[in-house]
Amino acid sequence: MGGYGIHWFRRDLRVLGNPALEWNLARNGGKVVGIFFVDSTFLSRPDFSPNRFAFLLNTLEALREELRALGGDLLVLDEIPKKGFSALLTQLKKSKKGKPSVVSFNRDYEPFARARDEGVSEMLVHGWGVEVHTERDHLVIEPHELKKESGEKSFYQVYSPFARKWFELLGRREIRGRVCPAEAKQTHFGLRWRDLLGVTDIYADRLEHFRAKNSKQVSVPIPKAGSKAALALLDEFDDELDDYSDQRDFPGVSGTSQLSMYLKNGSLTSAQVIAMLGLENARFKAVPQKMGATQFLKQLVWREFYIHILWHCPWVENQAFLEKYRNIKWENREDLFEAWKEGRTGYPIVDAGMRQLRQTGWMHNRVRMIVASFLTKDLLIDWRWGERYFMEQLLDGDLAANNGGWQWAASTGCDPQPYFRIFNPTLQSRKFDRDGVYLKQWLPERAHLKGRALHEPIEPIVEHSSRRLKALAMYQPLAR
Ligand SMILES: Cc1cc2nc3c(=O)[nH]c(=O)nc-3n(C[C@H](O)[C@H](O)[C@H](O)COP(=O)(O)OP(=O)(O)OC[C@H]3O[C@@H](n4cnc5c(N)ncnc54)[C@H](O)[C@@H]3O)c2cc1C
Repeated sequence: MGGYGIHWFRRDLRVLGNPALEWNLARNGGKVVGIFFVDSTFLSRPDFSPNRFAFLLNTLEALREELRALGGDLLVLDEIPKKGFSALLTQLKKSKKGKPSVVSFNRDYEPFARARDEGVSEMLVHGWGVEVHTERDHLVIEPHELKKESGEKSFYQVYSPFARKWFELLGRREIRGRVCPAEAKQTHFGLRWRDLLGVTDIYADRLEHFRAKNSKQVSVPIPKAGSKAALALLDEFDDELDDYSDQRDFPGVSGTSQLSMYLKNGSLTSAQVIAMLGLENARFKAVPQKMGATQFLKQLVWREFYIHILWHCPWVENQAFLEKYRNIKWENREDLFEAWKEGRTGYPIVDAGMRQLRQTGWMHNRVRMIVASFLTKDLLIDWRWGERYFMEQLLDGDLAANNGGWQWAASTGCDPQPYFRIFNPTLQSRKFDRDGVYLKQWLPERAHLKGRALHEPIEPIVEHSSRRLKALAMYQPLAR
C-alpha cells in the first residue's frame, strides 16, 4: 500500500472544517491528494445550467488555490467517477508509490449520488482492496438520526415537529461537538499529483478546458466563488442577523444571507454557519431578542427538511409527494409559459422576479414563492415545468430545495401551502414591496408610476380572479 490517501471532492469544496478530508490527512500524515470528476451524466442533464456550471468551475479553481497554498493539489478529470477511479488506480498501481490506502468522501443524499457512491465504494473496496471512509458534512443531522419515535411513517412529514426535533438534537452533546469543532488545526499537505503520476495525456487536468468551453454560454455575472468568498459574505451577514426576521420577506431590502449557492457546493456548511454565528444554543421558539438568529436557523432547517424528504422519498424528484395530486389536469399552455419565463405576464412582481432570475441567476425567496404560485395556480402549468426552468437558471439550483419549494407552492408536496391558498400577486406586491423599490429596480419602465398604480397589472396575460376559481376547481375534486 502506498501510505497515502485520495480525497474525492463533490459538494464539500473547501479545506477548512472538511470532516472526511481532515480524517484522511490525520490518517496519512498529510499525504493526501484531491480529485474532482466532471461527470458527463451531469453535463447532459436536461436541467443543466451553464451559469451554475461556471460557478462550480470557479469554485474548483478557488479550491485548488486553497489546496496549493497548503502544499496540496486538486486534479479535475473529465470522467464518470467509477470509470475514472478505475483508470486512475490502474495507473497508480504501476507507479512507484502504488495505489492509495484509502479514498475518503463526505456523504451526499440525492438519489443519483447515493447510487453512484454505492457503486464506486463497492468497486474500490471489493475490486481494488482500497478502504473507503465517509463522513457527514452536508447536513447537520442526517436522516437516520432524526426519526419519529414510533408510528407507521417513521420520518417527519411536517416541518414544525421536524424542526422542533432538529433543535432538540442540536442541543445534544454528540451533535454539538460536530457543529462546534475544536479550533481548526493547521493543515499541511505532503503530496501532489505530479509526485504520483506526473501529468500524462490521460490525466491532463480538464478545468481550463471546461472553463473555456462553458464561458461562451454564461449569461449572468458569476459571483466570487470559493470558501474565502463565502466566509466574507457570512461575516457581512453577521452584522445584519438581528434584523433578519424583520427584513427577510422584503425583496427590495438586502436582508438575507445570499449564502445558498455556497451551501450548495459546500464552500461553507450549515454547521460552520451555526458555529461562526454562535447559534448552537438557539431554541425552536426563540426569545424575541434572538428572533433574527432563530429565524435564520429555521431556514437552514428547511434546507435539511427537504434533503431528508428526498432521502426518504426519492420519487418526489419526478412526481407529487401527495398521491392525490399526481393526476392534476394542467392546462400547460406553451405561450403562457414563455411569457412567464420572459417576465411578460403583465403582473409587475412576477415580471420583476423573472427578470431578476434571468439577469442574475438568483431570486429572492418571497418572489420565488409568488412566481411559483402564479405559474401553477394562475397559469395552470405543471410545477415540474417551473422546477426545470429554475434549475436551468439558478446559481443555487439544488434538487431538494427546488423540488421542495415548487411542490410547496403547487400544494402537491410535503407540508405544502394548502391548495386553496392562492397568492394574489398584486396584494403580495403591495405588502412586501410597498414603495416599489424592487419593482423599480427590475422594471425601470414602471419607475414613473406611484402608489397603487405601481403594483397594478398592465395588459395581464390572464385575469387573476377568474384563474383563481379555475385553479380551485382543478384541485378541489382531488383534495379529499
Ligand atoms: C419555488 C422555490 C424554489 C427554490 N429553489 C431553491 C434552490 O434551487 N436552491 C436553494 O438553495 N433554495 C431554493 N429555494 C429556497 C430559498 O428561496 C433560497 O434558499 C433562498 O432564497 C436563498 O437565499 P439566501 O441564501 O439569501 O437565503 P437565507 O434567507 O439567507 O437563508 C439561509 C439559507 O437557508 C436555506 N433556505 C432558506 N429558505 C429555504 C427554503 N425555503 N427551502 C430550503 N432551504 C432554504 C438556504 O440554503 C439559504 O441559503 C426555493 C424556494 C422556492 C419557493
